[in-house]
Amino acid sequence: MTCIFCSIIERKAPATIVYEDDTVIAFHTINPIAPVHLLIVPKRHIESVNTLLPEDEGIMGHLFTAARTLADHEGIAQAGYRLVTNTGPDGGQSVYHIHMHLIGGRHLPFRFD
Ligand code: AMP
Ligand code: ZN
Repeated sequence: MTCIFCSIIERKAPATIVYEDDTVIAFHTINPIAPVHLLIVPKRHIESVNTLLPEDEGIMGHLFTAARTLADHEGIAQAGYRLVTNTGPDGGQSVYHIHMHLIGGRHLPFRFD
């Protein structure tokens, strides 16, 4: 099975990439729910939180520091934003390559779907 996020990382599928380093890549979602809606994705294919290993802790920490950098670049750091990682069917996960949504640019109610 091919993974759409691995394809984006390998530049085999299109995306509007806004940030990349050795560990993560960030790009615009195709279905934004707010003025700022980025996906921050580790380059290593990890299916979900359910398959995280202890050695992935550095990668997961890096998602947060990348989020901090991106929130600053997007100008939403002070107003605030939401970081979301959906997990499994009940969590609303639709792409099984772990990722963090960075959502902001408007006030977000607790429920947003
Ligand atoms: P989730 O439902 O939490 O797994 O989030 C998946 C996210 O990936 C959603 O925001 C989708 O809109 C987004 N998405 C799916 N396919 C693509 C794609 N080809 N390029 C960019 N974003 C995508
Ligand atoms: Zn993948």
